[in-house]
Amino acid sequence: MSFRARLTLAYTGFFALALLLLGCGIYFSVRQSLFAGVNRDLWAATRQVRAIFNAGGLEPRRTSSGELGLYLRSEFIKIFNNPNLGAQVFNVQGDLLNSTPNLDGREIPLADGALALGPEDVSTGHLTTREFDGLRMESLVTPLVLDSNNRVVGFLQISRPLKDVEQTLSTLTWILLGGGAIALMLSAAGAALLSSRALKPIDEITRTAQGIARAEDLGQRVPVPPHQDELHRLSVTINDLLARLENLFTTQRRFVADVSHELRTPLAAMQGNLEVLDRGGLKNPDLAAEAVADMRRETARLIRMVNDLLLLAQSDARVQIRNEPLELDTLMLEVYRELRPLAGEVSLRIGSEDQVTVTGDRDRLKQALLNLGVNALQYTPAGGVITLGLEQRDGFALLTVADTGVGISEEDLPHVFERFYRADPSRSRYSGGAGLGLSIVRRVAEAHNGYATVASIPGRGSTFAIWLPLPPGTSPAEPEPMPAEAPELAPATSWAREA
Ligand code: ADP
Repeated sequence: MSFRARLTLAYTGFFALALLLLGCGIYFSVRQSLFAGVNRDLWAATRQVRAIFNAGGLEPRRTSSGELGLYLRSEFIKIFNNPNLGAQVFNVQGDLLNSTPNLDGREIPLADGALALGPEDVSTGHLTTREFDGLRMESLVTPLVLDSNNRVVGFLQISRPLKDVEQTLSTLTWILLGGGAIALMLSAAGAALLSSRALKPIDEITRTAQGIARAEDLGQRVPVPPHQDELHRLSVTINDLLARLENLFTTQRRFVADVSHELRTPLAAMQGNLEVLDRGGLKNPDLAAEAVADMRRETARLIRMVNDLLLLAQSDARVQIRNEPLELDTLMLEVYRELRPLAGEVSLRIGSEDQVTVTGDRDRLKQALLNLGVNALQYTPAGGVITLGLEQRDGFALLTVADTGVGISEEDLPHVFERFYRADPSRSRYSGGAGLGLSIVRRVAEAHNGYATVASIPGRGSTFAIWLPLPPGTSPAEPEPMPAEAPELAPATSWAREA
């Protein structure tokens, strides 16, 4: 059963239940008030007949033994005149003595159990509902008692047909049933209409999603309803999700293509060298040595690339980085010492050197800093200067590697942190890079809740920076000037931050 049908059914079901409860409530309260009215009528008539008897219906008479007593004159009941109510007088044996003219001689029998009434039952009476002559009626029997000796001398029975009450109740029942049925039909139609309207946007979202799944086109988006409601939020959320998935798939596809491409080059080179050796190269020691050296270089490059990929994969999978207190100034000195032997004709210096301690993963941060240092050495010609710096700024520890090298063009700048991106592929492939070094820097920075930035002017140099959040409670250091080369390279606006 569709959700729409279930919704309509549930709504109609609840409405029907509410109607039923309301209908029952109305029916029973009306019924009760009608019967209370009947009882009031019966008691009022009883009081009137008693008044008639008290006024003249008692007659002093002598008994056969000569005693004087009061006797009830039952014919006085005929004075009582009400078209809706019939009154009867019975003697103590239960025989009918007299009745009002409107009964036309109909002898309604004395109600069962009435003979047991005593003088004390005058005010409570005996109430019965029964059927007589095809007519339902309600009768009230009260004992007639002579005040002089407190003796029951007969019974007064007032009867009232219930025809009008029953008619009212049956009309009410029909009104409730008919009205209820119409209300139920209207509400079911309304619920069906409303639920189909409410679910229409969901249908559209479903259709679009199915279209996306069929066409495998993550570029499509679901329509966003104009009103800022739950469905609007759902559509926006689905579209966000699609955008992220699209981005992820594109990156993934490009990544796989890039990896295959990057692996193919050294493998092809090695295959070429093996063929050289196969075709007699082994007999020529110079050729063999050259081929082996070539293969060693390519193998080293492959190993480096695979290691880089592994590291990236780990940071993608959010492998837990270690969280230990880490003196960044010591780390920077260590990196400086490791880079110095590689510097050759380039001058490697330490610029600002705050003492900063953060919590983080020593090995990963060292690798990131080394990547920046090696890049700087690679892209700085002889006679250039590379400056390593460490300072506190805006609640961050700022590690910088500034060089006076070739710089990066404006078009390349936003992309250098992407995987396999090389500003000048021919040049850096020659130098052995696969375009993974900076993506590792970015990943490491992000894994420490920080980020990596770059500022560069082509032909004059680049400044790469890793920003690491300072642990809470770190006192801000005195502001220090940037490394000598930095100000001209890094005006505040030119910091390109990888999003
Ligand atoms: P690679 O292994 O190719 O160096 P990276 O991710 O480390 O890969 O760097 C990506 C690209 O960014 C490089 O190919 C290079 O063009 C550019 N780049 C990185 N560092 C520097 C730098 N200090 N100066 C100039 N260009 C740089």
